[in-house]
Amino acid sequence: MTGRLYTITAGLYAALAFIAALWLAYIPVTSQEAHPSACVIGGLPQFTEGTIAAPGQQWRCQGSGAKDVSQTALVRFDIEEESRPRVLRSRIGLFDEIQLFAVDHDGTVRTRIYSIDTVQPVASEPMFLIDLPEVTEQTRSVFMQIEGAGHDATPMRAVLFDADPTANSEHFRAMVMIALLVGLVLAPMVFDLAFFGALRSPFLLWHAILSLTFGVLVILRSGLIVEFVEISIATWRAALIMGLGFCIFSAAMFTRSFIEEDMLDPRLRRMLPFIGIWAVVLSAIHLAHFDFLQPLGGSFHSIGLAPVLVAFGIVFADAYRRGSRAVRFQILGWMPLLLGFAVQLVSYLAPLGLPTDALPMFYLGTLSETTITAIGVGDKFLSLRKELTAVRSEAEELEKLSERDPLTGLLNRRAIDSRFDQLHKSGYETFALLDLDHFKKINDTAGHDTGDKVLQVIAEALRGDDGTISIRLGGEEFVLLMRGDDAFERAERLRQMVSLRVARSLPELGQVVTASMGLIVAPRKALPKATFSDLYSRADMLLYEAKAQGRNRMMAERIQAFERRKAPDRRKSKAA
Ligand code: GH3
Ligand code: MG
Ligand code: MG
Repeated sequence: MTGRLYTITAGLYAALAFIAALWLAYIPVTSQEAHPSACVIGGLPQFTEGTIAAPGQQWRCQGSGAKDVSQTALVRFDIEEESRPRVLRSRIGLFDEIQLFAVDHDGTVRTRIYSIDTVQPVASEPMFLIDLPEVTEQTRSVFMQIEGAGHDATPMRAVLFDADPTANSEHFRAMVMIALLVGLVLAPMVFDLAFFGALRSPFLLWHAILSLTFGVLVILRSGLIVEFVEISIATWRAALIMGLGFCIFSAAMFTRSFIEEDMLDPRLRRMLPFIGIWAVVLSAIHLAHFDFLQPLGGSFHSIGLAPVLVAFGIVFADAYRRGSRAVRFQILGWMPLLLGFAVQLVSYLAPLGLPTDALPMFYLGTLSETTITAIGVGDKFLSLRKELTAVRSEAEELEKLSERDPLTGLLNRRAIDSRFDQLHKSGYETFALLDLDHFKKINDTAGHDTGDKVLQVIAEALRGDDGTISIRLGGEEFVLLMRGDDAFERAERLRQMVSLRVARSLPELGQVVTASMGLIVAPRKALPKATFSDLYSRADMLLYEAKAQGRNRMMAERIQAFERRKAPDRRKSKAA
């Protein structure tokens, strides 16, 4: 029932997301009348009387194929009789300084100067907007002189407007849509955290973090942030570049935890965090703006990210080949973004005239990734929960069994032996052997009946822990089979509780009863063929050590590597 509900919700969510994205992709944001530039001079030093006076050969004008302007450029706008442009808008890029000149017929010049730190991006577009020096009816031309331009679109795409082109209802609509998009991108966090409450799997947390980084990227990249805070282009750009790095890092960590065990080459799984770290470091290097990287310009970052793209490709291919269900959602979800990035990369390497301003593509890609991956996360959550329910009901079944010890009501060894493999597979990986200290003495001093009562009190204490199956092996020796990351701590707590419970329930005993424990953590991955007897004999050795070292303590061991003798078995079971 919950499953169907989830599918319907997810379907609606995806449909809504794609409609929103399509709408966004076709919104024309500006509707003010625009004045494009007349001519450009590239690579020319300064705005001088000379450049105004001699408009001849140096200028490359509309239709003459003005391209390849280098770091310094001068752009001319011819002002017609009636028009009074007040602002200049252009594409965001790095620059050292922009100077604007309004030149009148009589030679009067008015100037304004901007640095990268004093220019704000425009919300909804990768553009910035700056005020012109006053344009009067006497004004003949406006010049924009840019120095240290990092992107030739900054001079090439400069346009003048009579009024702020973003102050209209189209712009408002775009902002609302982008806010909706941000909401859709962030929504999975709610699911993730709720799911995490039910099922403590790290992939749910990584997905929440990934959604958050995507949300931040959309808020930045769309310029929505400008509606809330004052932010210079320099800061905006830094946040965007670092945001991309962190987004890739979370994507790598999410992928690592999301793809099912045995469905990815362990070496690739180990490599993923490094890919994420590489993306963050690369972003930081790109921002640091080292001189020796200057000639590469923006392409350094894109080229540096190419290995990341390749690595994700290899990871996805390997998981797909091994039959991972989770990775199918990832491949589908990432496709538009990866394609978009590949297009951008190709356009850096080979100038094919492909679009690099792929903002609608970015929106679509982000939506695709977040929605489809969210569906994948839900899918994995449901199947894991189903597995967990199966394990629970198996444990309950076990509870009802008659294979119990009559004195304490705990399960006996026979009940567990045949089911041990199934339990181990479903996460009961901690094996603790508990033996009371000097129990013979208690029998001797307080009597056998009191000894029996002690055993009953202890059994009651051991039964109380969720995720623990308690077994009385015989005499005053118990086995605790435990699942959960905190099994070690819980086992130690139970061991200490023995003394407390006995003291509280049997104050007449007049002596402290303690217990020793040998505990072994045997991950299924390391010991896929472990039997009850295997683990028992290891735990018994540890218990013996605990006794030898003075009792009332725990000796524990975690099995890490696999014994050589069993290695081929492990391969076999993995491939099966
Ligand atoms: P250690 O600290 O080395 O474990 O000392 P210990 O005296 O506990 O030694 P050991 O484990 O060998 O002793 C087990 C004793 O537990 C022997 C027997 O008298 C007692 N015992 C075994 N089963 C029962 C039972 O069902 N009821 C009672 N009251 N005592 C039992
Ligand atoms: Mg004992
Ligand atoms: Mg014993």
